[in-house]
Amino acid sequence: MKNMFDIFIIGGGINGAGIARDASGRGLKVYLAEKGKVGSATSSWSSKLIHGGLRYLENYEFKLVAESLREREVITQIAPAITKPLPFVIPHTKKLRSKLLIRLGLFLYDNLGGKTKIPKSSKIIFAKQYQNILQSKFTEGFRYYDVQVDDKKLVEMNIDDAKKKGAIIEEDTKVINANRIDNYWEITLNNNEKIKSKILINAAGPWINEIVNNVLKINAKKSIRLVRGSHIITKKLYDEEVAFTLQNEDNRIVFVIPYKGEYSLIGTTEVDVDTPDNPSISNEEKIYLINTINNHFIKQISQEDIVETYSGIRPLIEDFKEATKVTRDYIFDLNEDNSQAPLLNIYGGKLTTYRKLAENVLLALNKYIPVNKKNSWTAKQKL
Ligand SMILES: Cc1cc2nc3c(=O)[nH]c(=O)nc-3n(C[C@H](O)[C@H](O)[C@H](O)COP(=O)(O)OP(=O)(O)OC[C@H]3O[C@@H](n4cnc5c(N)ncnc54)[C@H](O)[C@@H]3O)c2cc1C
Repeated sequence: MKNMFDIFIIGGGINGAGIARDASGRGLKVYLAEKGKVGSATSSWSSKLIHGGLRYLENYEFKLVAESLREREVITQIAPAITKPLPFVIPHTKKLRSKLLIRLGLFLYDNLGGKTKIPKSSKIIFAKQYQNILQSKFTEGFRYYDVQVDDKKLVEMNIDDAKKKGAIIEEDTKVINANRIDNYWEITLNNNEKIKSKILINAAGPWINEIVNNVLKINAKKSIRLVRGSHIITKKLYDEEVAFTLQNEDNRIVFVIPYKGEYSLIGTTEVDVDTPDNPSISNEEKIYLINTINNHFIKQISQEDIVETYSGIRPLIEDFKEATKVTRDYIFDLNEDNSQAPLLNIYGGKLTTYRKLAENVLLALNKYIPVNKKNSWTAKQKL
């Protein structure tokens, strides 16, 4: 049929962008609709880290951490202009995680991802290094490395490459309806245009179930939890190019990350919410982050020091645990209705694993489109 696309993607966040790039590079005909601007939702409200996720080791998510560490290596190589390794310091406190537990975690973190140019972890004595930043109750800690990224740029670079390879990317274009017509989908956009596609991919991030319920009008198989994470930005709290991984007594972790040369980015919180729309920080979250700084740093801050805030929504796969422990891994729900056109819903995920996710999405669809593992290409070609 003329004007038939191979893949229609709802959502131009990092996941949609990564799939569009990978698929168009394999010669597939791709259409992506984004209701706002590409990369302007969750994918630009992150902590801007390409990281293994040290704390997920506590939840025994070894597979996720290993994949994330391998991807950290890949993304650093394909996007060198927007990524940079950054040291992270964990101040040790006797009350919380033991030295043995942290050393074990860091040993795994250094080794789970295989070969890397990123430096290994080490012990730090604050009388010798990173002086005059932390309060005197912290005398020693540990240093490990992760990678900082320009998250929005990462989306835009994937989109630009997808466009170069022939993908059609439409911004300010909302998908309002999608009907399965035997072996293809007919997708209606908010300008009333109708697009036909063999496959439909729902990469709407935290809006996933809104699409499932209101656009596709099918029963959602998986429930998700919408968890708001907020950051505050202050003038930089110290001069050194080092980030801190602060442990709170509620067992949560707060990052303090050097940001754009003159600022510190501090986050995040975790608050359950009902809607993915217009997330913004509450007063309580601001106080939580400020208190975390004031419990660790010599420099004390107050609400007046906040120059900006932003919040994003994590669509976490519901498994009835407390938010910190809910998996950050992704799950595909491939909806195949006999011989009818397939629908693939993407639940969860991380910025870090978007490339692998895109590759796995396409491989999962190889019954419908000519996709071959040995033609996987995105790990080698620079963005
Ligand atoms: C606070 C916070 C911090 C994080 N920090 C990190 C981190 O440091 N490192 C990391 O690896 N991961 C991090 N993550 C996770 C990461 O940001 C997300 O997993 C990732 O950005 C999700 O991308 P996405 O493409 O699924 O969603 P999104 O970026 O939200 O994209 C979905 C898109 O779908 C569009 N859309 C919705 N409905 C429609 C419709 N009807 N029609 C057309 N378009 C539609 C939306 O406008 C949106 O742009 C963090 C997440 C949060 C919330």
